[in-house]
Formats: sequence, C-alpha cells, structure tokens
Amino acid sequence: MASAIADIVSADALDFAADGAFDVVNPATGEVFAQAPQIGDKALDSVFATAQNAFQHWRRDEGARRAALRAAADAVEQRAGELAPVLTAEQGKPINEAAEEVWAAAAWLRYYADLEVPREVIQDDAEAYQEVVRRPLGVVAAITPWNFPLALAAWKIAPALRAGNTIVLKPSPFTPLATLALGQALRGVFPDGVLSVVTGRDPLGAAMVAHPVPRKVSFTGSTATGKKVAASAADDLKRVTLELGGNDPAIVLPDVDVAEIAPQLFWGAFRNNGQVCLAVKRVYAHESIHADLVEALAGIAASIKVDDGTVDGAQLGPINNRPQFDRVTTLVSDALHHGARAVTGGAPLDRPGYFYAPTILDGVDDGIRIVDEEQFGPVLPVLSYRDEADAVARANRTNYGLTASVWSGDPDRALTLAADIDSGQVSINSHGAGVRPHLPFGGHKWSGLGVENGPWGLYGFTELQVIAGPPRRK
Ligand code: NAD
Repeated sequence: MASAIADIVSADALDFAADGAFDVVNPATGEVFAQAPQIGDKALDSVFATAQNAFQHWRRDEGARRAALRAAADAVEQRAGELAPVLTAEQGKPINEAAEEVWAAAAWLRYYADLEVPREVIQDDAEAYQEVVRRPLGVVAAITPWNFPLALAAWKIAPALRAGNTIVLKPSPFTPLATLALGQALRGVFPDGVLSVVTGRDPLGAAMVAHPVPRKVSFTGSTATGKKVAASAADDLKRVTLELGGNDPAIVLPDVDVAEIAPQLFWGAFRNNGQVCLAVKRVYAHESIHADLVEALAGIAASIKVDDGTVDGAQLGPINNRPQFDRVTTLVSDALHHGARAVTGGAPLDRPGYFYAPTILDGVDDGIRIVDEEQFGPVLPVLSYRDEADAVARANRTNYGLTASVWSGDPDRALTLAADIDSGQVSINSHGAGVRPHLPFGGHKWSGLGVENGPWGLYGFTELQVIAGPPRRK
C-alpha cells in the first residue's frame, strides 16, 4: 500500500505543482497513513488555464469523446484491484464495497459513452430551418464529498466530458487518494487538460467556485456548504448543480411482512455506516408492527461484523472521520438524554479508530435532533404512527427532500402514498432503487438544485442555443 500511495502522490503523477502536503488518516486506526499534495493559488490558475485551452478542441469531436469515455470505463475496470484498497484505506468501507464503487464508476462512464443524444431539429423544410443545440459550457469545477469519492466523481466526469466540457475535480480532503489514483488511471485516455484532479485542504473548494475560469460548478456535499457555493457562484452567474444532504424517511405500513422487509430496510439505513446521502435516516412504522420491527432491526444490527474494511467478512467499517464520529456520538447522547432507548448499540466501540456500534433507537419522536437532522452515521431512530396521513405529514416536515421509501404488502397502496411525499425519488419496498445511471437523481427543497444522471444530468452541463434561418439547401 505504501508504495502504491507513493506512486499516486508523486510529482510526476499530479496534474498540478504541489505547494506542501496534508495528512490523510486511516479511519480504521485513527492514524495518519499518507500525505496528499496541496495545490496553491498559482498552480490552480494554471490548471484552470490548461482546462480552458483543452476545451477549444475537446468540444468539437463528439465521436472522440464517446470513444475516450469508453476507454476510461475499461481503464477503471482494469485498475479496480488497485483503486479499491486505496478507497478502503482512506474511506473505511469494506473492501468488497470499495470494489463495487469502482465498478459503479466504470458503469457511469460507460453509460454516458453509449448514451444516444438525439438532435432536436424543430423545423427543417421548405419554409425554415430551426434547431435547438445543447452547447457545452466550458470548464467545470467539480467538488465531491468523502462518502463515495469514486462513484460521485464519475457522476460528474462522465456527463460533463460527454457534453464537451473539460473538468477540474476536487475530492474531499478526507479522501483525496482514490480520486488522485482515478485521475492517474485515466491519464492518456483523455487529452491533457480535459480531466484534472486537484487536492488540498479548504478553502480550496471556495477558491475553485470563486475562480473566474469555470462556467459551471457541480457540487456534492452538505446543504450548509451547498448554500455557500450557490451564493459565491451567483457573483458571476456560474451555473450550479447542487447534490446536498438528506433526511430520508421510510414509511412502513401495517400490512408488511416484518421479517421479510427488515434486512432490506436495515441495509437501506446502514450501508456505508449510514454515510449515504440517501440512507434511510428515520423510520415511521405503523404502531401495530412498530415493536416487531424494532426488534427485527435490532437483531440484525447486533449481528453485524464491524471491523477494519480490509478484514475478511467485515460488513461495516469505521465512520470516515473524527468530526463525523463526534457528531454521531453527540446526536445519540442527545437522543438518550431526551428519553430515547438504544435497543442495541448506542456507543462507540472500545478500540482505536472511529468505530461506532450499529444503533437502533426506540422511544424517539419528531423534534429531537437525531430525527430532525441528518445524522450520517450508523444510527436509526424508529418512530411510531397511527394514521397514514399523519405519517406522510411527518415525513414531509423537513427542509430536506432527497429520497424516501414506502413499504407495504400492497404496492398500489404504497404508490398512492408515494405521490404525497416531497422528495426527488420515492422507492417502493426498497430504498434507493432509483439510483441508476439512466434515472435523474436530485433533491427537492434543501437537498439540492438540478439533477445528475440520465440525459437530464448531461443537459445540466450544457446551455441551449437556437439556430434559426432560411431553409437548408439539401
Ligand atoms: P461538505 O459540504 O463538508 O464537503 C463537501 C466538499 O465541499 C468537500 O470536497 C469540501 O472540501 C468542499 N468544500 C468545503 N467548503 C467549501 C466551500 N466553501 N466551497 C466549495 N467547496 C467547499 O460535505 P461532506 O461532509 O464532505 O459530505 C457529507 C455531505 O454530503 C452530507 O450532507 C451528504 O448528505 C452529502 N451528500 C450528498 C449527496 C447527493 O447526491 N445529494 C451525495 C453524497 C453526499
């Protein structure tokens, strides 16, 4: 691992001249295991200038762009064995999930290589010629969080490049290495300056958003930061797409088979330790099945193997970083103080690193922090309701609106309820079923602005231009 990291951060492998370095911590030990290069202001100027130059050529040849994206997907798949361990070392997730994330990144690159984008000719006859053209914007500044560094990078790289933009991508300072390795894996696949990866501590993200070169900011992260991004981008009217936080509700109707749904519901909440924007963050269970569901979820939680992601059979790793670990600890303590009961878990594990016991909370109600805020950790509050309309109202009583789920033995009944939930996606009898390359993903309310994925995600990296004139000579 040490030599692999040395290769990733070597001056030759970087898209920029480093200006110092910063520590990267392995969350499974709590110790620094690598240093990542810090980009300074001058080097950032130069990266953006190179991206701007590359744009002039890259925008012109769609065939070449599709071929390069296909080659990029192949390259990522070929390097999966190298990328996954780096991801586990800095992010904490079990190695099999890290490998799945690498494959997801490749799948997104391939989807956008293969996507057919029809021309939009409105009129082409003896009277007139009218066409609506989707033009690339220029240089994109892309900023990602630490929970899915590779998958979310691909969500931005693939549509931005397919549309003809060039991109400068910055991962979270908690997880810089896998994204640097991704950039390296794609060297030679794209012409110089088409994809650049830069790393550094903040305020690097803010500097990218404020920089005069990029014409679009594609940001994934917290709602608090997203608001700052939107405000800063407004200064020169940069286009923005914001994929932000969530507080996803799951509504469980009385007609479910509790034993059948519990495992799926559990993993909808606890995958990647709940550090998923669209994790189930609160459950509203009908009072007739509430106790059974709490028991079933707690049984699963207690049986989970929590360990270093490199250990065979580990199902959950550590929380990614110290501030997030502290936040989860604080929110659970606050809930317990307000009368919640930890049916299982409720405390950190007694070992080095940021390990926290998978926790099921009973005796909670709306209005306490663990229910009202995004916990982003391995903790699930299970609330009770009597009346379906009340459950929907409580599910909607939040500034977030990312995704949601409804669970029922009668899918039609679930669909009726889904129509009343204010979020970007609603899954029936699963959570997150709509996260696919071809389906739009984006939040309502404070969960975001614009969408990623599918043709809609591509259009977000373009601007419309109308070409209108006399009939064409055919
Ligand atoms: P964060 O907002 O702290 O950081 C996200 C990124 O923004 C990092 O790269 C960070 O360095 C950068 N950044 C920090 N300040 C900035 C500024 N002023 N301007 C520009 N960039 C800045 O979020 P995080 O803690 O890394 O990630 C967790 C959050 O991300 C959660 O809220 C989660 O729900 C959200 N998220 C959303 C989605 C989605 O698709 N909606 C997906 C994954 C994560």
